[in-house]
Amino acid sequence: MAEHSKIPQATAKRLPLYYRFLNNLHLQGKSRVSSKELSEAVKVDSATIRRDFSYFGALGKKGYGYNVEHLLDFFRKTLDQDEITSVVLIGVGNLGTAFLNYNFKKNNNTKIEMAFDTSSEKVNKEMGGIPIYHIDDLAKHLGDIKTAILTVPGLEAQSITEKLVEAGVGGILNFTPARLTVPEDVRVHHIDLAVELQSLIYFMKHYSPEAEE
Ligand code: ATP
Repeated sequence: MAEHSKIPQATAKRLPLYYRFLNNLHLQGKSRVSSKELSEAVKVDSATIRRDFSYFGALGKKGYGYNVEHLLDFFRKTLDQDEITSVVLIGVGNLGTAFLNYNFKKNNNTKIEMAFDTSSEKVNKEMGGIPIYHIDDLAKHLGDIKTAILTVPGLEAQSITEKLVEAGVGGILNFTPARLTVPEDVRVHHIDLAVELQSLIYFMKHYSPEAEE
């Protein structure tokens, strides 16, 4: 991400959310948007939105709101949307297969270029038009891809992570339940679907308005 050093991490995490919504507005032919509209659409309070946007030098005018085109321009550059970012997927199981078929076609400019697995039923085949190679051939095929999606069994996750890091990967989106150990300069974002679901159910039970009565 360009200029990331100036933007706080919490703000940076919301950029893709803003980008997607603004892109939709732009496609609908809207040229401006108020922080209130944005706030309702992306479910972030408007004070936070105004603070976030102040980091981009995109201060809205009172009674006018934000210029959609100007913001989109900024987001495109900051999120590197001008160029396609190649991603690799490791583990073509149920979840991995879903990702290969989905491949972020509608959303943005990230693209899964190749996948790796160990199963002889999967290796040397294609899924959703993406080639699947054997994990032992990682270094041979990876090229300069720096981003990986990990959808392997939890027990395999750490050793594969080490191979990925050795091959030059700097960012891992970890869908396994395993907590990964990586060098300081490697970034891991962990998405444990089971934990997220459990947490949602817990909050529904204990923090819904009825539960507070
Ligand atoms: P499936 O029904 O295809 O087994 P799943 O998501 O339940 O799907 P998992 O056991 O989680 O399967 O494994 C996910 C995928 O990771 C499988 O395709 C498996 O072959 C692959 N896999 C397992 N070990 C490795 C490894 N060391 N390197 C790469 N891929 C691996």
